[in-house]
Amino acid sequence: MKTAEVLKTEFNVQRIRADFPILNEVVRGKPLVYLDNAATTQKPRCVIEAVERFYRQQNSNVHRGVHYLSELATEVYEEARGAVRSFLNARSGKEIIFTAGATDSINLVAYAFGNLGLRPGDEILISEMEHHSNIVPWQMLCERSGAKLRVVPIDDAGELVFSEFERLLTPKTRLAALVYASNSLGTINPVEKIIARAHEMNVPVLLDAAQAGAHLPLDVQALDCDFLAFSGHKVMGPTGIGILYGKENWLDKLPPYRGGGDMIKSVTFEKTIYNDLPHKFEAGTPNIAGAAGLAAALQYVSAIGRETILSYENELLRKAVRALAEIPGLRFIGTAANKVAVISFVLEGVHPHDVGTILDSEGVAIRTGHHCTQPVMKHFNVPATSRASFSFYNTEEEISKLAESLQKVREFML
Ligand code: PMP
Repeated sequence: MKTAEVLKTEFNVQRIRADFPILNEVVRGKPLVYLDNAATTQKPRCVIEAVERFYRQQNSNVHRGVHYLSELATEVYEEARGAVRSFLNARSGKEIIFTAGATDSINLVAYAFGNLGLRPGDEILISEMEHHSNIVPWQMLCERSGAKLRVVPIDDAGELVFSEFERLLTPKTRLAALVYASNSLGTINPVEKIIARAHEMNVPVLLDAAQAGAHLPLDVQALDCDFLAFSGHKVMGPTGIGILYGKENWLDKLPPYRGGGDMIKSVTFEKTIYNDLPHKFEAGTPNIAGAAGLAAALQYVSAIGRETILSYENELLRKAVRALAEIPGLRFIGTAANKVAVISFVLEGVHPHDVGTILDSEGVAIRTGHHCTQPVMKHFNVPATSRASFSFYNTEEEISKLAESLQKVREFML
């Protein structure tokens, strides 16, 4: 892997691309143009190697053995926790729970929070732009407890209506769970303002940072969020590994989510004493190789520099919006002032599925559909959108290729 010093001196997209073997693939006879990064990002060699190294040289189970390999695997796993702590600037490793991904993290909080004793009359606040992962677990909790789900609307630019957030935040609100950056609109929510306002009402805030993790610097102490969820695979890491950050006092208060090995101090048939944080929430054998890969990914991203990534991606976003705005009949869905590099659009007279299929024949991978945000589609009165989502390894040439391919779609379909 390149050292932090080398990468920090200069952002060179071609050098970055050389770290990602898959970007050299030819698909459908064309060089791959991968613009589906909001679904999952590609993996740099250091991540692939970290996973391989684990299985070749370090594989054993954690926290259980006195033998060399078990100690080594435990070290790898706990060092990965340290890498995540540092990436998020959390106070302590106790606040970092390994999960299977953002969905799993949100389910953990929804389940455990419910067991604190939610009652009819209590309310959970989400927004209209949430991913289904940040809707359904809360709906399930409401069904179990009789609590009510309240939804902050968005406006036609795809921005949260802050005055409505303030109005819906009441003494009945037990928790606000909001997306930091929307996967279908790209909108970056004013989370500092949201959290400060919620805390004035003593309402804890969970941030769904599944997208924000890939694009924005994250500092949980500066944000002052109570919980934050993200997935490794959207930040260059492996699939099947994710993070729940929680403030220690909240995680202490929450009952465990799953029971099993590793999350206990002692078990008798009469009573089980739960383990300390963070192990209380990590029942069973964890995804150790995934943790090793995630640590490598976060170190890789940090070595490039998240401010550097953000400014490069902002430039890509600006150029892509300018290029796509030239295409007749193209309408952007989501025009918030503050966005990550995600562009949703519809092309008049062409179903998004056809857009995606024709682009695929050109080697251009975008996503079409509702992006697991059906309420967003309903708001904009469209069944689906096409979505191009960028990462720091994408280039201006790829934006041109996207625009050219969209012109071809028009010629072909209209
Ligand atoms: N929230 C948002 C905003 C997302 O974009 C996604 C993934 N598309 C998720 C939650 C769920 O992430 P995962 O499927 O990795 O658990």
